[in-house]
Amino acid sequence: MNNPIPYGRQHITEEDIAAVAEVLRGPMLTQGPSIGAFEKAFADYIGAPYAVAVSNGTAALHLCAMALGVGPGTRVITTPITFSASANCVRYCGGEVFFADIDPDTVLLDVNAVRRLIEAHPRGYFSGIIPVDFAGYPVDMVAFRALADEHGLWLLEDSCHSPGGSFEATDGKTHRCGDASLADLAIFSFHPVKHIACGEGGMITAGTEALYNHLMRLRTHGITNKPGDFTPPYDGEPERGGWYMQLQELGYNYRLTDMQAALGLSQLQRADAMLARRREIAARYDAAFAQTPVQTIVPPANVGHAYHLYVIQTDNRKGLYDYLRTKNIFAQVHYIPVHTMPYYQQQGNQPGDYPLAERYYSRCLSLPMYPTLTDDEQQYVINEVLAFVGR
Ligand SMILES: *Cc1c(COP(=O)(O)O)cnc(C)c1O
Repeated sequence: MNNPIPYGRQHITEEDIAAVAEVLRGPMLTQGPSIGAFEKAFADYIGAPYAVAVSNGTAALHLCAMALGVGPGTRVITTPITFSASANCVRYCGGEVFFADIDPDTVLLDVNAVRRLIEAHPRGYFSGIIPVDFAGYPVDMVAFRALADEHGLWLLEDSCHSPGGSFEATDGKTHRCGDASLADLAIFSFHPVKHIACGEGGMITAGTEALYNHLMRLRTHGITNKPGDFTPPYDGEPERGGWYMQLQELGYNYRLTDMQAALGLSQLQRADAMLARRREIAARYDAAFAQTPVQTIVPPANVGHAYHLYVIQTDNRKGLYDYLRTKNIFAQVHYIPVHTMPYYQQQGNQPGDYPLAERYYSRCLSLPMYPTLTDDEQQYVINEVLAFVGR
């Protein structure tokens, strides 16, 4: 293969380009009609009551941490196997990040490890949990909700990897990733390697109108111009003009542009087809590696994996990574455990703290996984992986 094969890549069609161009020809480049339309369509797709579009997934996490009341002294638990933003949002608000180990079968935050951590401390010590649908494998939010309710904690689901993912719980109900039915809030990213590309972009899904209204205000500096939301006591202006608005708390400018929303909305029309293609690619990898030393994660039948990533585990990971690069295949590693990052070591963590996460990291490799990967390209990737591990 002459063309480099990355681990992930966006797919832009002529329809996407036309949608963006239409916004550019119109009067509103930011906060125009595409924002609300994208929010509504995304909420419908995910099955969430409310959605708030923001400038990126990290901004989404930051606003959620604010809306959930994270501040100095707030303690929050998350997984070491995630993009660092899942943890950083707590630090932005001055809170403290705690980690718990993963379940090696799913590579997701282990609800039993979280329970042990919580129960080793007095009641009220922790405030919330941030589980992550890592690689697109849905977190068992039923189990996390039960644990959170027992201890009075909130849940923020990082669903960046899992739009369209779902699982059937033991109660027979199907839960969609990030639908904010079990989590208080959930977030998504529209970075080009994710399922839906906006360039930069993010979305928060919320289960209640109160959280939705708060997040809408935080997204725009903490300003409201809705008369019904103005806070008394009001002084100074007996007759408010149409210009009147209130800065009610310190927020940010985390708005998405209308061009980005139009691109996201256009991409969303193909979400089901693109997810189906990701699952097809995963099934082919599963079959190809089944009787080989290449370790894969094949979810049980009740799990609707969204396959942001297709991760294999192998003993000579560095060797395989380097070998694939010589073959123009750019596999990637997700993730270096967050607690081993120098910044989080400064916060009191150290290598060795979460041995299952660290062992997973030492063996993991994400193979090319994106809807436009061709069958020939995938076969080439499979052949090269097997050629390397077979020698
Ligand atoms: C991509 C990602 C984020 C951050 O999203 P950005 O849009 O890049 O800011 C957060 N969490 C996870 C798990 C991600 O994969």
